[in-house]
This record gives sequence, C-alpha cells and structure tokens, in this order.
Amino acid sequence: MAQIGTDKQAAKGFLEAGNVVGIPTETVYGLAGNALNPDAILTIFRVKNRPSFDPLIVHTDSFAKLDQFVTDIPELARKLAKAFWPGPLTLLLPKRDLIPDLVTAGLPTVAVRIPNHPLTLDLLRSLAFPLAAPSANPFGYISPTTAQHVADQLGDQVPYILDGGPAGIGIESTIIGFENNVATVFRLGGMALEQIERVIGPVLVQTHSTSNPKAPGMLSSHYAPRKPLILLSAGTSPQPGERAGALVFREPFGGIQANHQRVLSPTGDLNEAAKNLFAHLRTLDTLPIDVIYAELLPNSGLGQAMNDRLRRASVQ
Ligand code: AMP
Ligand code: MG
Repeated sequence: MAQIGTDKQAAKGFLEAGNVVGIPTETVYGLAGNALNPDAILTIFRVKNRPSFDPLIVHTDSFAKLDQFVTDIPELARKLAKAFWPGPLTLLLPKRDLIPDLVTAGLPTVAVRIPNHPLTLDLLRSLAFPLAAPSANPFGYISPTTAQHVADQLGDQVPYILDGGPAGIGIESTIIGFENNVATVFRLGGMALEQIERVIGPVLVQTHSTSNPKAPGMLSSHYAPRKPLILLSAGTSPQPGERAGALVFREPFGGIQANHQRVLSPTGDLNEAAKNLFAHLRTLDTLPIDVIYAELLPNSGLGQAMNDRLRRASVQ
C-alpha cells in the first residue's frame, strides 16, 4: 500500500529510481515519473490503464528550463507563461528529441506547465529531470483532489504519495496550443478563458473531437463517476425519488433527501465550486443512490470548465 506523507526526499528517491509517485498540484493530484525515462513513462500508462495515444503533461519549475525541452516558444506562449506561471495553464510547444515520443504519444508537440504548489515546486527544483504527470486516477474516472483519493484508487500500485493538502483549484489545467500565431484552447480548465483573453486577445476553442482527439479530455465520455449522471439545465428539476442524488450549485433540490445531495458553493462562488466538484462527485458515487442529477453552472469563469466536465461525465 502507498505511504502518504510530506517527505520530499522520499519522493525524490523513488523518482530517481524510476518509480512513479503521487504529487500534489493546484489543479488535481498527478501520477509523476521521470519524463526522460521511457520505463517510468510506461509505468505511468500501466498504472493508470491509460491508452498510449493519450499524451502526458511535462512539469518543470522554471521558464528558463523550457529551452531544454522545446525548440520554439512563440510570442503568445511567452506572454501567457509570463502572466500565469506557475499556474493552471498548459502550453503545447514543439518538442526536442530529449522528450521521449512515448510522453507525447508521437505528437511533435509537448504539453508543459509549471504547477503552482510549493511542495511540488521544491521537489522539481531538487530533481535533474522534469516530471511527466497525468492526473492520478484510473483512465476515464474522476480526477483526484486529495492524497487519499489517489490512495483509494491507485494505492496498491504507487509506493509513495506526497500529501500537499486538498487541491486549491480543483480542476485540470487549461490546455492551449499555437499555430501560425493563432492560439487554440483544446481543454477548458483551471485558467479561465476570460483571463487568457485579457492577455492575448480572442482565442479559438476546440474542445470537441470524436476521433483522434488532440487531448483525451476531448473524448466525449471522460471524468465520469460510475453512476449515471443526468445534467439539468438551470431552472429544471430532477425526478424526486429515494434513490436519487444531486450535485447542486447553491441550494439543494426539493424532493431529494438532503443527505443525498452535495452543494458546490452556498455563496455562489465558482472558484469554491471548482474546488469541491470532484470530491463531491466521488462522494455521490459512493452513496446508496442509482442516479446523480447535476445542475449546470453559470457559464463564466471556471463555470465553463466545470460544465465541460459535467457534460462529459453525463455521457455513458
Ligand atoms: P491529464 O493530466 O490526465 O488530464 O492528461 C493530460 C492531458 O494533456 C491529456 O488530455 C492530453 O491529451 C493533453 N496533452 C498532452 N500533450 C498533448 C499534446 N501534445 N497535444 C494535445 N494535448 C496534449
Ligand atoms: Mg486525466
């Protein structure tokens, strides 16, 4: 069983030996391995049961180190890195040969970001290599936002989970790519579109793809609980019932037991809602209910990324 702790040296030791380790970030917990070691990368794919066409995000601790991994940093990418790193924004940049093809699933671009978590930044500074880290959950399931979530699902396959407390943002990073001086968002996430557009102007958003997705977060069914999830648009009500549960924004629904409902933010704060989203979905998945009703959120700020996750969670 995985040990959960705050010992950076222990985490460093496992990573240097080619093992994988659970790491905290501000978005969700990651399943980290040496990004330059193909064996460690294969272990990540095996532990997650992740298809090999699904590339990983490479985490580093400084902008200066980027030149080691990428051949070019377009001006738009520089501006975003300057404005938002460390933070929940992942940039797709042309990769150097040093990054194994396994990491990028054969793509010519590598996804990179500097995560904003003090423990993980310290760990990255102490290592001679960057960390490849997808979310530390079995492929397709809800991402983990605490060390315990990681232990619950991957504990028997991971020697160590670095505990950095509950994730401060709670939803995966926003992924953005650059082609011919045009920025395209491929996954909505913890960095709101409005904030990105304030820095580089209007961006394209392309988060749906049925085949050969650029980001698996683009697969129509992803981030899903095991129970069926039914999405309700604002103002509509669920079927009342003893075996129904609900995920609501500010106030519980009538007709469903209070203890079968989880409120994302009683004050209507979308950032607080994002922090609670995945933990609440996990809890609802364990209750004695047959169906989860989920209310769509206001479509601004992190509401957009949360609605994206709820839509994908609702696809069976
Ligand atoms: P996860 O951390 O589990 O959310 O997975 C990382 C996400 O980053 C996946 O959805 C990947 O498809 C996406 N990603 C990583 N590298 C690339 C890339 N080169 N192009 C497009 N998406 C990428
Ligand atoms: Mg994931």
